[in-house]
Amino acid sequence: MHPELAQMLDRHATAAVKQVSQGSTAHRAVSVASSLLKVAAMEPRIAAALVAGGTARAAHKAAARTGNADEVPRLILAFYWALSRLDSAADRECAADDAAGKESVVQLSAAAAQLRACLPLLKDRRSDGEPQQLVSCLQQEWLPHAVATAQALQRRWEEQQAGRQAAAQLELAQAAATRCCAYLRCPNLGAEGGPAAGQQPGSKRCGRCRAVWYCGTDCSHADWRAGGHRKVCSALAAARQQLSSNGSKRH
Ligand SMILES: [Zn+2]
Ligand SMILES: [Zn+2]
Repeated sequence: MHPELAQMLDRHATAAVKQVSQGSTAHRAVSVASSLLKVAAMEPRIAAALVAGGTARAAHKAAARTGNADEVPRLILAFYWALSRLDSAADRECAADDAAGKESVVQLSAAAAQLRACLPLLKDRRSDGEPQQLVSCLQQEWLPHAVATAQALQRRWEEQQAGRQAAAQLELAQAAATRCCAYLRCPNLGAEGGPAAGQQPGSKRCGRCRAVWYCGTDCSHADWRAGGHRKVCSALAAARQQLSSNGSKRH
């Protein structure tokens, strides 16, 4: 799911809960918030967006205003399901292959441990607690850990997204390295000289990574400024070095 979509859902959900909670209909707002949190419990990114965004706060405010003995326990149960989803998502992220030693995962794991300790309380207290007491536990104990976990999850997902983009960019650059000009918008493609890297008369190699060729300085400058080579140059250099050191080990 696209992160902006989850945030958009949170904005609409927050507005809906706030709107309903005007005047004497706060208990309706709590009921709307419960339904939204139940939906959120199906998808960790929605759960994180609603908990880290405005929906959870708006729900808590409406619950504090109404203190309704039917709606508040129902809201607490909906929170329980949504927060359990965050907990299992955090568990999965912390166990991922690339998770070891990552700062973001260390933070996530610390936040999730505190959330996990709250979950049984959240489940048990909903049935016997006084509404006002539940609301104050929600504000003081449960929500802060839930928000911290949701935010840590969002940072982790952003980081993974950035990593995937960088990997795709590097792959594209490596494919371009076999062309006579690595600038993908080069107007001279198919011009004189061989089609492969370095075969065209006047070819220029990137002096930093030495991994890609251009038909001239116009293209090398354009690729650096607009073609994205600046972002992959050092990764290409590292990949090239890796290749050549593997090669020398073999011989
Ligand atoms: Zn060119
Ligand atoms: Zn380069």
